[in-house]
Amino acid sequence: MIVDRLRRPLGSLRVSVTDRCNLRCRYCMPEQEYTWLPKQSILTFEEITRLVRVFTSLGVEKVRLTGGEPLLRHDLPTLTAMLARIPGIRDLAMTTNGLLLAKHAESLRTAGLERVTVSLDTLRPERMRHLARTDRHADVLAGIAATRRAGFTRLKLNTVVIRGVNDDELVDLVEFGRAHDAEVRFIEYMDVGGATGWTAEQVVSQREMLDTLTRHYGTITAVAERDPAAPAERFRLPDGATFGIVASTTAPFCRSCDRSRLTADGTWFLCLYAQRGTDLREPLRTGATDTQLAELISSTWQGRTDRGAEERLGVSGRGALYPVTALRADPHREMHTRGG
Ligand code: SAM
Repeated sequence: MIVDRLRRPLGSLRVSVTDRCNLRCRYCMPEQEYTWLPKQSILTFEEITRLVRVFTSLGVEKVRLTGGEPLLRHDLPTLTAMLARIPGIRDLAMTTNGLLLAKHAESLRTAGLERVTVSLDTLRPERMRHLARTDRHADVLAGIAATRRAGFTRLKLNTVVIRGVNDDELVDLVEFGRAHDAEVRFIEYMDVGGATGWTAEQVVSQREMLDTLTRHYGTITAVAERDPAAPAERFRLPDGATFGIVASTTAPFCRSCDRSRLTADGTWFLCLYAQRGTDLREPLRTGATDTQLAELISSTWQGRTDRGAEERLGVSGRGALYPVTALRADPHREMHTRGG
């Protein structure tokens, strides 16, 4: 097993298959136009599969397809099937906004996708219009329903909680999860990317979320987590229903973070907050062998000291991570490029 300087294993890889998205969520990519990754730089399915194979040879067991919106990548089930054949992968999952999920759920399941996480920030269509600039709330609900029909189990719903925007929907979302046999994970609003207008005041902390839910349901207990690297802390309501909270802003979990991120153009980031990534596309396209790629990946991981979210805790007068001009200069700094 390869470990970094803080003895964290190389365990989980998020693979962004496109930097494009069909939503404009205000907490992620609110602007209409961005500096997109050049088309010729986007990794082919064969290139992604080869890199993932090398990563699994070094210990990666969990692979999550993300973006941008992964379902905008043409023919994603084909890539899914290619990845599903890699023996080292123990968990093949995808995070999606759900807009196109009803159309693809069955073919993804058939291709070997094991788990789906759908982003669902609100149950109110008019709120989604304001939050993500779309009228397609019903399509997200149809996508969620389709996962069940396609045979997916352990469905998760991601909700970024923002004060004054959707923090009055915690109970409704827990109940929606219960009704749809899904587990909601409330995510603290993070200061990633830059065009989002993030302020500390908009962050609803894990403590506040638990207080709100306790007032409604009564005593909430923490669930002992089997996977120490899991980002969400899970909780149980008095009636047994469970939910998770990802306290990435107020109580970061850098010490156990085994995640890294591969962008659609083959840049590998060791932390969501990292300033720079490692270019894997260039060696891939100039004839590096699998052994050489493995050496590059393992030596880079062994030097990893990143604790981005913890370091952000110490920043006074904290605002969005990058000014918009810096984002335009390097699209790799965007959350939608790095993959959430
Ligand atoms: N398009 C897909 C989706 O909507 O799920 C995948 C990409 S999205 C960047 C992945 C996850 O990142 C989503 O669950 C989203 O809620 C989360 N995310 C994006 N910006 C965030 C922020 N500022 N704070 C916390 N989570 C964020």
